[in-house]
Amino acid sequence: MKQLYKTYGESTEIFKELEKKYPKYFKMKSIGKTWEKRDINLLIISKDIKTHEERPALFYTGTIHAREWVGHELAIEFANYILNNLDHDPAIQNYIENATIYMVPCANPDGFEYSQKHFSFWRKNRRQNADGSYGVDLNRNFPIGYVKSTATTSNVYGGPEPFSEPETRALRDFVEAHENISIALDYHSQGNVFFPAHDFRHEDTIDTTDMNTLCANMAEEIRKISDREYGIHQGKPPTKLISGSGREFYYSKGIISTVVEVGTRNISDYLDDMNEHVREHIPALLHAVKEVPNYDRKNGLSRIKSFEITEIGSNHANLVWEYEQNNDIFFEIYRSTKNKSFCNASNLVARTQSLEFSDINLNSNKDYYYNIRAVNKKTNIKSPFYPQIILRTDPEYDEFSRTYYATSKGTGYVAENYTNNKKHFGVNSLFVGVDLNKGVSYAIVTMSFNTLPSNAQIKHASFHLYPINRVSTTIEKYGEWNVGIVNQETMGDITNFDDVDNMEILQYVGRPTSSDKLTQGIWRTWEFSGKECETLQKVAANNKVVFRIEGPKDLIIGRTRQMMQWDIGYGKFGYGLPYRPRLELTYTLKPTISTIYPKAVYTVTKDEVINNEITAGFDADGNKIYSTFEFNISSLPPYDETIITNAYFELNSTKIYIKDDIRFHLEFVDENIDKDYEKIKNRDVIHNIGYDVSATELKNNQTQYFTFDSYAGITLNEKLEDKSDISFVLSPTSSKKAIKDKSISWEMKNQSLSPKLIIEHIPKRRKPLPQVTNANLTLENGKIKLTWTNPIHDDLKGVKVIKNAYREPYSTHDGQKLYAGMDEYTFDDFGALDVDKYFAIFTYDEVPNYSKPIIIKYEAK
Ligand SMILES: [Zn+2]
Repeated sequence: MKQLYKTYGESTEIFKELEKKYPKYFKMKSIGKTWEKRDINLLIISKDIKTHEERPALFYTGTIHAREWVGHELAIEFANYILNNLDHDPAIQNYIENATIYMVPCANPDGFEYSQKHFSFWRKNRRQNADGSYGVDLNRNFPIGYVKSTATTSNVYGGPEPFSEPETRALRDFVEAHENISIALDYHSQGNVFFPAHDFRHEDTIDTTDMNTLCANMAEEIRKISDREYGIHQGKPPTKLISGSGREFYYSKGIISTVVEVGTRNISDYLDDMNEHVREHIPALLHAVKEVPNYDRKNGLSRIKSFEITEIGSNHANLVWEYEQNNDIFFEIYRSTKNKSFCNASNLVARTQSLEFSDINLNSNKDYYYNIRAVNKKTNIKSPFYPQIILRTDPEYDEFSRTYYATSKGTGYVAENYTNNKKHFGVNSLFVGVDLNKGVSYAIVTMSFNTLPSNAQIKHASFHLYPINRVSTTIEKYGEWNVGIVNQETMGDITNFDDVDNMEILQYVGRPTSSDKLTQGIWRTWEFSGKECETLQKVAANNKVVFRIEGPKDLIIGRTRQMMQWDIGYGKFGYGLPYRPRLELTYTLKPTISTIYPKAVYTVTKDEVINNEITAGFDADGNKIYSTFEFNISSLPPYDETIITNAYFELNSTKIYIKDDIRFHLEFVDENIDKDYEKIKNRDVIHNIGYDVSATELKNNQTQYFTFDSYAGITLNEKLEDKSDISFVLSPTSSKKAIKDKSISWEMKNQSLSPKLIIEHIPKRRKPLPQVTNANLTLENGKIKLTWTNPIHDDLKGVKVIKNAYREPYSTHDGQKLYAGMDEYTFDDFGALDVDKYFAIFTYDEVPNYSKPIIIKYEAK
């Protein structure tokens, strides 16, 4: 295996050859010497080596960690790929026209050599420390967030001071001398994940969306090649921020910067895996090169100035933004259904010069993510992205929405070889899979359903888990992870391995997740099918649901584990409550059926008005005969708390004795009928209810239902608000010209056959509750504290607080959630005090209808 990997000496020779072959496009130079006097090679790829500094540039670094050989190997392959294809590939020509590529294939040549020759798992450089030990972790030796330590033998020892090492000084000097660098990629192994830079504050930065999108677009290029999904993870909040790394140093210089963790092992099997890593990362790297001009620090196109939501419905959303007037500029809008998604042609929903966009045909009660950038149509340069908008569409008129979170006590993992599995519950992450020491392990997730009404009918459900770490866990390419609904009647003790192992699974949920789709930092979702919703519906009667998550149960020879780690949100290992396992539900209620009989019925002919009789057709002179029906709907419950979900009108015909081509239709007249023949005849049609019915059809079926369509349904709901009377007219039509003396009568006397209006309705609040009052912001023990007063109302279910650094949140999902519940205060835990931000406080009822937010702006101290 190792023979196939190039040594540092070999790559130097390869680059010298390339230099000879492509002198115009390629150059290698030394940017410094290591402790052991090796040259630190820098490669330049440019359309013209003489003018490389005139174009914005990508800065690639590899193998700063000695044992992470992929960076070195990929750099060799990428340089070869570009140079060998430049001549005939117009896309590459175009990229190189606009961008320069700088690569340091190996930022730690001494360590790399040591790792190849002596000790595979060597990570640091080869400095001789004062105590005789060797090595500094170069990726802890940069100044941003640098942590001083005396633990020289540690694998993450950061050196005596920032830039104490010649390798990091060489990188610093090069980057500081090249302000044309706009994107920096630092290649490591392993984890199949991107780690974008951060500024050590737990707030999104103006370019968080840019870094996430760059990574997501690179990830999508990888997925196209190998179907493998990469995670994207900024490593927050609030734990495990890496100190003193190169990535944060480059970022501090205004460079979009990310670490790329490749593969599933430090040194992967060359033929099996390394080849595939190269194949999948070359298109990803090309994408990064393509983006380089868009992040040019000097001549880039400016970002739009604001990006806001103005309206959200159950099926649409309206967005607006601002930009300086410029006819060369248009805007690209991208819509995704998951966070940290790519933005490419497949999810581009608008190209427009307008400053607003209305998105329609959305699904109800679903999360959408919108991204926007400006494009100069002359230069094709694109601006950075404005911070992403997140919104959730409203539930449909008959829908309710619920989010259920895992309970602390009922959530944990059980391992085959552990005796005290109880202690994992509510504390530790969910380890699922198999491990040499732990044996097989399962996770149990329990959710309380006690706020779900007993007559709820689940329409959609999805189960969500947050994968927190797959760097320290090891995932090879095999096996699948499944979520099952447990039969609670027979489940036994959820903290006992044997009981969990023997659980009866009523139904597995959604599609299994295969090992190459376990993406750290991106929520994994299992969508329920209709059948699975039925099972969930059944267990909901227990007021709780228990899920078992299981992974592979066998180890490959030579491997010690195949294990995934999901967050539970609780305990010191968790990322906080927003990262709890959760279940999103959309449900409706079984409707109440109200039957309403008419308060008045008339037959209206040209000559007379006949009470309590229903006839329609044509009289002896060929004039139409109408029937009218008046109803009073005041017996229905109040408008504010009721939604009519369905309505239909039932009529039963008496004996049929005509064969002629006569059809009948029922009109909904939203007013009381004036029983005047001419007025009825000349009246405008308001709404036809359902389809018209022919005399022939009546022969076969005495009972006729005229069903309200959605427009008529809306009108009926409006009538409920007024509690006014509503009326209907039954009228005949015929394609024949002169029909005379033909009519049909309908049952009136027998109540079961008499005309009736059947209305299905559910109790549902229509309007949001009042807003909170007395909203206030104070500082308490170095934290921002928000306080407010809840409105006093029986239907209040809680208050939701979110924050957003870039806009006043209009949607309850457009920002970081700080709190939801009945308290009247919350803290901005881990929040920074030195950035401006908006807090939004919404009240909600059980639908939930959210109030318009109360916004409090925090001004940086
Ligand atoms: Zn590394």
